[in-house]
Amino acid sequence: MVTPRLILVLGDQLSESLSALAAADPARDLVVMAEVRAEGVYVPHHPQKIALILAAMRKFAAHLRAQGWRVAYGALDDPDTAPSIPAELLRRAEEFGAAQVIATQPGDWRLIQALEATPLRLTLLPDTRFLCPPQVFAAWAEGRKTLRMEWFYREMRRRTGLLMEGDKPIGGQWNFDSENRKPAQPDMLRPRPLRFTPDAETEAVLTLVEREFPGHFGQLRPFAWATTRTDALLALDHFIRESLPRFGDEQDAMLADDPTLSHSLLSPYINLGLLSPLEVCKRAEAAFHAGKAPLNAVEGFIRQILGWREYMRGIWQIQGPDYLTRNALNHTAPLPAAYWGAPTRMACLKSAVAQTRDTAYAHHIQRLMVTGNFALLAGVDPAQVHDWYLAVYIDALEWVEAPNTLGMSQFADGGLLGSKPYVSSGAYIDRMSDYCGTCAYRVKERSGPRACPFNLLYWQFLHRHRARFEGNPRMAQMYRTWDRMEAQHRDTVLAEGRALLARLHAGEMV
Ligand SMILES: Cc1cc2nc3c(=O)[nH]c(=O)nc-3n(C[C@H](O)[C@H](O)[C@H](O)COP(=O)(O)OP(=O)(O)OC[C@H]3O[C@@H](n4cnc5c(N)ncnc54)[C@H](O)[C@@H]3O)c2cc1C
Ligand code: SF4
Repeated sequence: MVTPRLILVLGDQLSESLSALAAADPARDLVVMAEVRAEGVYVPHHPQKIALILAAMRKFAAHLRAQGWRVAYGALDDPDTAPSIPAELLRRAEEFGAAQVIATQPGDWRLIQALEATPLRLTLLPDTRFLCPPQVFAAWAEGRKTLRMEWFYREMRRRTGLLMEGDKPIGGQWNFDSENRKPAQPDMLRPRPLRFTPDAETEAVLTLVEREFPGHFGQLRPFAWATTRTDALLALDHFIRESLPRFGDEQDAMLADDPTLSHSLLSPYINLGLLSPLEVCKRAEAAFHAGKAPLNAVEGFIRQILGWREYMRGIWQIQGPDYLTRNALNHTAPLPAAYWGAPTRMACLKSAVAQTRDTAYAHHIQRLMVTGNFALLAGVDPAQVHDWYLAVYIDALEWVEAPNTLGMSQFADGGLLGSKPYVSSGAYIDRMSDYCGTCAYRVKERSGPRACPFNLLYWQFLHRHRARFEGNPRMAQMYRTWDRMEAQHRDTVLAEGRALLARLHAGEMV
């Protein structure tokens, strides 16, 4: 008899098209899937995220079995399941007399290194579910000093033909972002994302997660995520029909009582492999051609997936594990306790964190311009910021979370990914949200006890990093504005900013 090979399928590799499955022989090989404790606790993942991954894994294993695969599934509550992926592979190798493992490249360096260190013969295949193969990204990046997403995105439009007329972009423009920066109004009739009632199998997982990960930040219930490809496709249909038409207009807006606005909430399904990025983009493109959604919405949506998502994957791939340790601005402050739910007077931060706790979701602008912006202004150690984002969001996987957090949001890579840091005063948040109206601080006050902390810390940040940013043409205007202020006002702002940072770093409520 031919010895079986072990085909590893991880919790974010739930796609029939997975390269490891394509390389395997169902008559000979054995699929190994395992709910190992180490993966649930290396950062304290949000309970909804753990539950989504476990429930989706269980259902994908059943789907593979129905298709004729033999699946060795290690459940979390099975005492025989090993505590880590490499240990589980060794256990299964011994049990089935296998010596070879075929795996698709995992999306975090920690796991890649752990797999490479196993004594088993390992074949690590590229993850072909991305639209841009690593060598194509590397060739594009080669020799460029800065890697601007917009140029990469245009290449990807040409490569896939999405929203193209020959070699020209449909509508005569590559990017319609200037139409996509509007604030939003509360609207009772705004369509809501599709929610799913947990079936008995998902309920069993929820009970397990409740028992096994009791101390993790975040509410487990209500749990309303899709856990199969069939349901993820329903969520996609619903988004394309109901919310895509408004996606562009509301993309950057924030409303305290409407945390999802017209966003898709599809990232967890795409990231786990339940939906493919190309099918999602094609559905959006088809809606445009059918006259069901305007170009600014469809282009904006496709750019997020074809542009930003692929670009982040490329950055993660070419930068390697060292990227995780970058700290170009030498920020060392601890993450404020408010990020873990401690009280804060700042309405925007309070709302973004409460929503994260309750739903494991925040949209891009909340992540970038509220929690990310504040951590950057407060000089928080980027490694702590990275751990937080990796833990708390339903869609957080290292390959996409790390470049977004360390590169885009915290400028920890020194500008490889963004030409300037994403920092703003309270004025941006006020323009794009309804948070400020209910805040204990005053967004228009630039000094004094009620001055918005973003205002104080914004100037403090620019002052602190003047040597680095003063010569940046995109920031020159900000320094000119600062320099035009009265010297006495500048001194007051800096002194109050320093005092605020000291209070924050001492763990006091702000
Ligand atoms: C600090 C920070 C951390 C982030 N961490 C993650 C993360 O761990 N996982 C993750 O998938 N996204 C992350 N993002 C990107 C973005 O915030 C989420 O993809 C988006 O909010 C998911 O919600 P949605 O599906 O409703 O997105 P929509 O607004 O509906 O966008 C559509 C799709 O575009 C893709 N997308 C949009 N923006 C990005 C981006 N910047 N990078 C990659 N894909 C993008 C996602 O697949 C998303 O589903 C992060 C952004 C920031 C600023
Ligand atoms: S005033 Fe400042 S702290 Fe308060 S909600 Fe507005 S931006 Fe946030």
